Amino acid sequence: MRIRTLAGAVAAVFVLSSPVVGGQAVAVRTAGTASPSGETQVLTYDTGRAGEFASAVDRGAAIWNNSLDAVELRPAAAGETADIRIVVVDGWPRTVPGGLGSGTVYFGREAVAEGHSTVRIAAHELGHVLGLPDRKPGPCSELMSGASAGPSCRSALPDPAERAEVEEKFERAPAGLFM
Ligand SMILES: [Zn+2]
Repeated sequence: MRIRTLAGAVAAVFVLSSPVVGGQAVAVRTAGTASPSGETQVLTYDTGRAGEFASAVDRGAAIWNNSLDAVELRPAAAGETADIRIVVVDGWPRTVPGGLGSGTVYFGREAVAEGHSTVRIAAHELGHVLGLPDRKPGPCSELMSGASAGPSCRSALPDPAERAEVEEKFERAPAGLFM
């Protein structure tokens, strides 16, 4: 398994134990794959300023990690500059992208006050960082329909088309594009 970080470093990682999802071992990619699609793009995120929504962000990131092969979202280590910053604000949630796989998520309290799911908000905004646009109005089954699905929508899962779109963006991106 090769991990390519945003800094451009390539590290070989020895996987000591295979991740297990749903009781089945997940196939671990072998090192030395020529295609970029054989690599996992690690993106770090920082919830140090996410206030009361830090755990919702962790859950949103975990949902994406369970949904994708090409990307892994990982909390930034202490002192490490994160690719994605989450900042709690009083307004409406929004994301200012810094390019594919990076940016700042403003986790707005206003949507939470109106009853929207914090985990759906987190996963939706991370969806923007992962290159997905808003698709409003849309059904609750689509993550990028966002608030248009109404506050009763508790789904925080990207649908199959949304997952495929993110996978394709990251698998297509050549090394170095993330700089
Ligand atoms: Zn949005």
